[in-house]
Amino acid sequence: MNGSINNEIDELHWTLGLLQDLEVGLVVVDRDSHICLWNGFMENHSGISSNKALNQNLFALCSELPQRWLTKKMEAVLLLSNTAYISWEQRPYLFEFKSHRPITGNAPYMYQNVTLIPLSSPTGQIDHIGILIYDVTDTAVGKQALEAANAQLQSYSRTDGLTGLYNRAYWQECLEKEFDRFNRLQEVSSLVMFDIDHFKRVNDTYGHQAGDLVIQTIADTLKAHARKTDVVGRYGGEEYGAILAGTSGENAIIFAERLRSAVEATVMEYAEHKLAVTISLGISEIKYDHDTALEWLEEADQALYKSKQSGRNWVTLYDEDN
Ligand code: GH3
Ligand code: MG
Ligand code: MG
Repeated sequence: MNGSINNEIDELHWTLGLLQDLEVGLVVVDRDSHICLWNGFMENHSGISSNKALNQNLFALCSELPQRWLTKKMEAVLLLSNTAYISWEQRPYLFEFKSHRPITGNAPYMYQNVTLIPLSSPTGQIDHIGILIYDVTDTAVGKQALEAANAQLQSYSRTDGLTGLYNRAYWQECLEKEFDRFNRLQEVSSLVMFDIDHFKRVNDTYGHQAGDLVIQTIADTLKAHARKTDVVGRYGGEEYGAILAGTSGENAIIFAERLRSAVEATVMEYAEHKLAVTISLGISEIKYDHDTALEWLEEADQALYKSKQSGRNWVTLYDEDN
């Protein structure tokens, strides 16, 4: 008999020792949220000793805890006798502990997964809850870094390096989408294509770098004139496209005219030179008889060609009768 009690005490001693040194936080609270156990992990990270924590109300001791939210969770655990899990993705942390990752450095606090376990007494009653706190900072930081890198990659693959506009491939994808949208919703849209006039002269006279500056400056002018819903891209070397969703051909002319005169009025400085260029624009309004997005694009291109023939620095709206 004595031996068996000794064994039980030994076992309890080891268990408590293990809990104390666990690399996981463990807090046991009763139905009134009074703390019955506060292990070494909790002591180390909170700076609150077990002596001080014991018998205190959890929410009085740790004011950062979301009391209403956590109380509800704990009530459900007690009522249903079910374990509950809270992931860092749902709530980054429960206890506000500093992150001990000075090297990776980009986690301001310890990310935590939390498990709430109903604890039954020897009589089978559930009167206590065990709260386990897992430090998942490495996983969280790793996942966030990966997501950021993916977003960055995706934006690189959509963006033209010189101008920051959408590149041709992505812009064309948007054009296809707008075309599909028209077929579903029958909402008007217009397409504006434009090309810099006599651009070869800029390159030939001032060099390729000057040409690049001109291409960038016109992209900036385009961005400044576009609305949030407009999709602007660099279609080719010195050719650009703007998809104006929800805009009629007549209204697209207003946009195109503004852009044309803004470019005409822009003076760029390159070394000791002052550069000025003009653009020619072509517009096509989307129509029912367009079978593909490409047909829509070709009409804008034909209108652009007409602007070039009309002496450049000009806006043309595609007209099937002309
Ligand atoms: P037009 O008025 O008929 O458009 O005459 P243009 O001289 O502008 O003729 P075109 O549109 O055919 O000229 C395209 C030129 O743009 C040819 C090419 O050398 C130059 N180009 C294309 N991409 C770039 C680029 O990224 N940087 C620079 N600097 N030049 C480029
Ligand atoms: Mg061209
Ligand atoms: Mg040109």
